Amino acid sequence: MTDRRIGVYICYCGGNISDYVEVEKVRVAISRDPGVVVAKTTMFACSDAAQEEMIEDIKTNKLDGLVVASCSPKLHLFTFRAVAERAGLNPYQYVQVNLREQDSWAHQHDKDQATEKGIRLVRAGIAKCALTEPLSTMRIKTAPRVLIIGAGVAGLRAALSLSDMGLSVFVIEKEAEIGGWVGKFGSMFPNDRKGIDLIGTLAGEAGQRDNIKIFTSSELIEKGGSIGDFSVVIQVEGKEKISLNVGTVIVATGFDSYRLTEGEFGYGLDGVITLPDFKMMLDKSNGSLAFNGRKIKDIAYIYCVGSRQPREMENPNLYCSRYCCTAAVHTSLEVGKKDKSIHQFHLYRDMRTYGKYELLYNSALNNGSVFIKYADDDFPKVERAGDKVHIKVKDLLSHGEEFDIEVDLLILVTGMIPRKNNKLADVLKLPIGMDGFFNEIHPKLRPVETVIDGVFIAGASQGPKTLAESVTSSMAAVSKSAALLMKGYVDLEPLIAKIDPERCVWCDECTKACPYGAIEKVSADGKEVARIIPSLCKGGGTCVPLCPQDAIDVEGYTDVQITAMIDSLIKEVK
Ligand SMILES: Cc1cc2nc3c(=O)[nH]c(=O)nc-3n(C[C@H](O)[C@H](O)[C@H](O)COP(=O)(O)OP(=O)(O)OC[C@H]3O[C@@H](n4cnc5c(N)ncnc54)[C@H](O)[C@@H]3O)c2cc1C
Repeated sequence: MTDRRIGVYICYCGGNISDYVEVEKVRVAISRDPGVVVAKTTMFACSDAAQEEMIEDIKTNKLDGLVVASCSPKLHLFTFRAVAERAGLNPYQYVQVNLREQDSWAHQHDKDQATEKGIRLVRAGIAKCALTEPLSTMRIKTAPRVLIIGAGVAGLRAALSLSDMGLSVFVIEKEAEIGGWVGKFGSMFPNDRKGIDLIGTLAGEAGQRDNIKIFTSSELIEKGGSIGDFSVVIQVEGKEKISLNVGTVIVATGFDSYRLTEGEFGYGLDGVITLPDFKMMLDKSNGSLAFNGRKIKDIAYIYCVGSRQPREMENPNLYCSRYCCTAAVHTSLEVGKKDKSIHQFHLYRDMRTYGKYELLYNSALNNGSVFIKYADDDFPKVERAGDKVHIKVKDLLSHGEEFDIEVDLLILVTGMIPRKNNKLADVLKLPIGMDGFFNEIHPKLRPVETVIDGVFIAGASQGPKTLAESVTSSMAAVSKSAALLMKGYVDLEPLIAKIDPERCVWCDECTKACPYGAIEKVSADGKEVARIIPSLCKGGGTCVPLCPQDAIDVEGYTDVQITAMIDSLIKEVK
């Protein structure tokens, strides 16, 4: 039995639930369950009228628990927590039952069984609700300072925007020079502005700001604390260690260019180079183009080198690198500006000069570039013949006709790969995706947030991006950082692990299991025990089943609550 006073609302979801579940039958079945004081059905639980009715019921019946059986909590958990709060009920005494995704939509073929399952699910929700306790969020004061890792275009642009908002910024760059890839290049698409000038402008502006400090030849070596209040240690030139206190961290460490193995598409042969090397060579050249002392008359480009690799390969890069079709086409236009007489052949698989960059492709066509489409499973063959590079390729556009092309220079259009940044990933505990780039929480809805609260990713560290896309993502990271820091505080969810110090014998199993470093060893009553660091714990619960002493529980999902739910689920429906 329970002395709790619980209100239960079962939603029709405008037919989404009631078409397959007999909602009224569910209501009658649970209405006499222990603790249930109010049991109602509603057409749309999320409607303003239904919310007002719940608030009224909570107040007049002095309810101390609320259950809404409707759609997924992903959609409306916060809606109904807010209802509870507006009625003066602790929001953590609200439980949502997912009758739609987990019942009606899943069992559209069998209304009786769906109804029975619905009764069990709601009963389990009530059983859990009866064991809830009031909980409060944790408020943490935030430091108005940001650490940016990586002084490429994404990092530098983020630094200036944060500085505009009055926040202090520390930028650390592992190389002796700032600027990343963009700082190495001349003319870049879309507007032919030189990368090196762009970085010069950003660096010049940053240099004039009192609230931006850039450390070159530096790396992050330690991180402690939590969202809003991180303590970090950076090492400058392998020697001096500097401790800083920052509220958020933006990781803008960029990408590497695909590294070819000897012989891959002729790599290693005289006259075969990568696109980044060619771009730098082109920028430095004065007058006519030459390679190893030989004048260049014919150039070929092979696209998709190191991107969209066949699945059969060992550790293939399956993704498209986004920037390379446009960068190669743009580079060929720059070649044309230097010497119109040079013949250029583009050997591609699919031309992805998307959006307005399509215009560059048209210009290249109009300027005489020849485009040859090779098949996904039939790559061009490259060898050196005399003082030329010889390429054999079958062209799908002319029904598989085989061409022999002889050029002075072959440019391999290499894709983007993740930088090797294991040490940084380790210090920050950053998750890495299947593709090897840093991973966001949600690719559509939370594209720059990571599972580590207060640590954001920007630019090409998250995946292949053009310059403009890198800056756009860095602006998103700026807005997430600023939204946290300008407020001055952050409220954290209380649904986290708790350790019973009396049971704990410090065996260290939980710290090994925690991916967030949220458990520490402390002394309590003369013995060593584990303690949860509330601001780091995510309530993931990996530590719970590993504890041999059964000393850990997660708030909101305690052992007693889960057991009560299982008991209700297996109880016969009358
Ligand atoms: C050949 C080529 C041509 C291109 N042409 C174009 C073009 O014309 N137009 C266009 O829009 N895009 C182009 N791009 C893409 C463009 O270069 C990228 O979008 C851009 O560089 C991404 O910027 P970023 O700051 O994210 O990364 P990066 O430029 O890689 O900068 C990252 C910075 O982080 C630093 N760093 C890395 N790890 C650490 C660490 N652990 N600690 C501290 N610092 C670290 C790096 O040293 C670097 O300075 C081209 C790319 C290539 C390869």
